[in-house]
Amino acid sequence: MKLLQDKVALITGGSRGIGAALVRRFAEHGAHVAFTYRSSSAEAEAIVTELTGMGVKAKAYQSDAGSYTEAEALINAVVADFGQLDVLINNAGITQDTLMLRMTEEQWDKVISTNLKSVFNLSKHALRPMMKSRGGAIINMGSIVGITGNAGQANYAASKAGIIGFSKSLAKEMGSRNIRCNTVAPGFIETDMTDQLDEKTRDAYLSNIPLKRFGKANEVADVCVFLASDMGAYVSGQTISVCGALHT
Ligand code: NDP
Repeated sequence: MKLLQDKVALITGGSRGIGAALVRRFAEHGAHVAFTYRSSSAEAEAIVTELTGMGVKAKAYQSDAGSYTEAEALINAVVADFGQLDVLINNAGITQDTLMLRMTEEQWDKVISTNLKSVFNLSKHALRPMMKSRGGAIINMGSIVGITGNAGQANYAASKAGIIGFSKSLAKEMGSRNIRCNTVAPGFIETDMTDQLDEKTRDAYLSNIPLKRFGKANEVADVCVFLASDMGAYVSGQTISVCGALHT
């Protein structure tokens, strides 16, 4: 059963990891997919070719999610290219982990800009086309670290906690316009981002995960398919953890 037939979705950071899984899953469910990347143009173009072969419309845009003006230009381009915008997934994110005593202003600003300001940038400009089509779904990629905190990730955890507050507020503000907004909070998912962690840290996480394995990008994407589809029509303002019960 295709849950997203002919919906138009914009996914930030779709060239790798969870974003690439989202792009593929959304296409499998019949959505036309616009997605962004920062520098991985070859990976992005390969995904576009793959999606086009699946019979949906697909286009990749190089766009810095942390830039307000680039976000505005991006939303305008997507609406011009695809005719509408039904779903926005703010997935692009980075880590710059270090203990607070060593954290520089630049590391703080970079993570807050890419992970949190980006959510404001994209959501702000997506509201107009969503209001025009009398509804929409915004899904923001948080992290369980935004709920629990984590030593060495004060910048990242703050950005993800901010996303949760933002999403709840937007859900309350835009509910009367039939625009839903939710946060998905992954735990430890196998991607390039988590490949950066050393063996000791990975093993420590694994021993604490009740399901005794790391998550797969597709398992996060499936929750987003649900939230974006009509099956999630009465779910808004929520934070849904996808973490193998690491955080309950
Ligand atoms: P990856 O590092 O594998 O991929 C990140 C993606 O974001 C890439 O497509 C990258 O583009 C893009 N990106 C980075 N910066 C920007 C920017 N400024 N503008 C536009 N795109 C950008 O990350 P993951 O797939 O692991 O993570 C995806 C999201 O999930 C993030 O928000 C992350 O915080 C969250 N998350 C991940 C977890 C995990 O265990 N992996 C756990 C909890 C949350 P390019 O390829 O061009 O660099």
